[in-house]
Amino acid sequence: MKIETSKDAQHWRAIAREYADEYLQPHEVEAELNDGVLPQEITSRNKKRAIELGFTAIDVPKSHGGLELPMESQVALWEQLGRVTNALSWCFAEAQEWMFDACSESQIEKYILPMMRGEKKDCYAITESGPGSDLTALEATATRDGDDYVLNGEKWYVTSGNLADFFWFQGRIPDDNDDVLFLVDQGTPGIEITATPKFSHTYAAHHPTYQFTDVRVPASQRVGKSGDGMAYMHSWFRHERLMIGARCCGAAARLIEEAMAFANERVVDGVPLSEKQLIQVMLADSATELYASRLMTYEAARAVDRGENVKVLHSRCSMVKLYVSEMANRVADRAVQIFGGRGYMRENVAERFFRELRVDRIWEGTSEIQRLIIARSLLKRGLDEM
Ligand SMILES: Cc1cc2nc3c(=O)[nH]c(=O)nc-3n(C[C@H](O)[C@H](O)[C@H](O)COP(=O)(O)OP(=O)(O)OC[C@H]3O[C@@H](n4cnc5c(N)ncnc54)[C@H](O)[C@@H]3O)c2cc1C
Repeated sequence: MKIETSKDAQHWRAIAREYADEYLQPHEVEAELNDGVLPQEITSRNKKRAIELGFTAIDVPKSHGGLELPMESQVALWEQLGRVTNALSWCFAEAQEWMFDACSESQIEKYILPMMRGEKKDCYAITESGPGSDLTALEATATRDGDDYVLNGEKWYVTSGNLADFFWFQGRIPDDNDDVLFLVDQGTPGIEITATPKFSHTYAAHHPTYQFTDVRVPASQRVGKSGDGMAYMHSWFRHERLMIGARCCGAAARLIEEAMAFANERVVDGVPLSEKQLIQVMLADSATELYASRLMTYEAARAVDRGENVKVLHSRCSMVKLYVSEMANRVADRAVQIFGGRGYMRENVAERFFRELRVDRIWEGTSEIQRLIIARSLLKRGLDEM
């Protein structure tokens, strides 16, 4: 399926595809059957190669030694990594552009540049059990005490908590109700894992629950200035929502290709399954929805590159996340159906994606929350300005 993209995007697409095919995809079943964990030498080799290829620096400003790729090229890259199951592409950390706006030079030196070099990994401690989707109601507190802040609160679903070196911790200053973001090192006294729930997917990265009790951090660990706390998270959400769109396009493409190959080869009633029109309908619907998804994802990325109004971009990224994640789930469901019983085996890519893609409708804001964002933008700006 061809859509018009820049030469640069095509270049990164080719590099990422080769990496996904050669370094990641061959290890999916091994990971699936081993709680998501690969032998250390394979994970290290994959990470090393990703760093050599520049993947950790794609969103880093050139002024800090990064590649500063256009968003269109970043989407092209992540689309190809999205073809792989078991989150094997999470073997490297990403330093993102918003971090360079948000962080002080000393924070950049201590946390962000080491991520680009592959020396540190981060995780996000935002969600809480009570407020859930409502991030305006977070209960974790950050109380000033001399030159320090004291953090308290419980954080759920902290992805990669078991692998990360530091947290982005979102809290609130009790007196002025100001949202604040902190960089907090793993191992700081007062941080405790209270649960490591099992989830549907089989990933090496866990999503533990953390209790922060009187965790003391120097004021220099606070990110940005007063009032900016949630704005940084919104930047992160926009980026991630777009990249979820990209990865879901890659997953859907792989699923369609694998289901089609199976349908061509499997013979029922003396003919290939692909000659059955009921099977063709599933393939045709999937390809059509993927086409729409790719067009909207790439167009949203180009809108970012054009520097369009950030509020408009916010709702466009929500539209991408909503539509493309739901599309990929429909495609995975059809792929399982085409594979029949084989599609229900964990060794089958359709079975794995069927479980793994489900969370793309939940994290980084559920589909319902995306709809609320889109509706708010529509009612405020009107269709022509969206
Ligand atoms: C595997 C996994 C990894 C995650 N990783 C991270 C992470 O690294 N860091 C982090 O901070 N968080 C993480 N999350 C949390 C994730 O972002 C939240 O689960 C998500 O935002 C939804 O919040 P909730 O689970 O509390 O659901 P709830 O807010 O309790 O929602 C339950 C249901 O109600 C709906 N709903 C809620 N509010 C409204 C409303 N106003 N109108 C209509 N419907 C509504 C929701 O759409 C949903 O269907 C992760 C979650 C999962 C499952």
